[in-house]
Amino acid sequence: MSKSCPVTGLFGGTFDPVHFGHLRPALEVCQDLDLHEVRWIPGGQPPHRETPLAETVHRLNMLRLAVQDIDRFTVDIRETERAGPSYTVDTLISLRKEMPGSSLALILGQDAFNGLPGWHRWQEILELAHVIVCARPGSILPQTGELAGRQTDDFTGLEEQTHGLVYTHPVTQLSISATAIRALIMQGKTPRYLLPAPVCDYIDKNGLYRPDHPGSTDSQGKT
Ligand code: ATP
Repeated sequence: MSKSCPVTGLFGGTFDPVHFGHLRPALEVCQDLDLHEVRWIPGGQPPHRETPLAETVHRLNMLRLAVQDIDRFTVDIRETERAGPSYTVDTLISLRKEMPGSSLALILGQDAFNGLPGWHRWQEILELAHVIVCARPGSILPQTGELAGRQTDDFTGLEEQTHGLVYTHPVTQLSISATAIRALIMQGKTPRYLLPAPVCDYIDKNGLYRPDHPGSTDSQGKT
């Protein structure tokens, strides 16, 4: 890439369900860094965790409801259509074929970033994309190891090369997790105000995450 070019953000997750802890940081990153778009990429079968509790069609419907008001938010369903585990490196390889000269950046929460060295073929990820870490303001990322050497304080670097840099952006921290939302619903409580109202209504209407919903019985006791 010879000249500065807008960055496409890629935000993967199980989104089971999507909530404001995902949406607000993604919007802040998109606005503050003037990203070309943020592609939301719901996982199919996650390699690092148990299978999602809501069926794929419901996770997709909830995600679409959540992002519908933001033009630069789009939903990319390639992982849900792929058989087998959803490895990020495979997703990036397929995106790279479609956008060979574009700057791509994986958007990760700090917890996900800290676990990156455990991901399948993780070094290849930085040969395919940058990483934008949504961090707690003032938090410190690893100062040693391979990832430390990739870090930059200058976002323009991500517009000038297509991949390979780690940039940290401070975002509003919302202590919300999908696990806690599912637990509330299992207890018969409402998750309202933790996630967009249309998503909350969708969960109610379809009886998702309730003890009697198919798939809600969790072998690992996660409720
Ligand atoms: P679960 O509780 O089921 O593990 P989750 O709420 O952590 O789910 P995921 O879909 O697993 O959501 O997360 C997708 C991405 O969103 C990850 O990069 C994760 O770090 C980030 N993320 C999740 N919750 C937050 C939050 N409250 N603030 C910032 N980033 C978050």
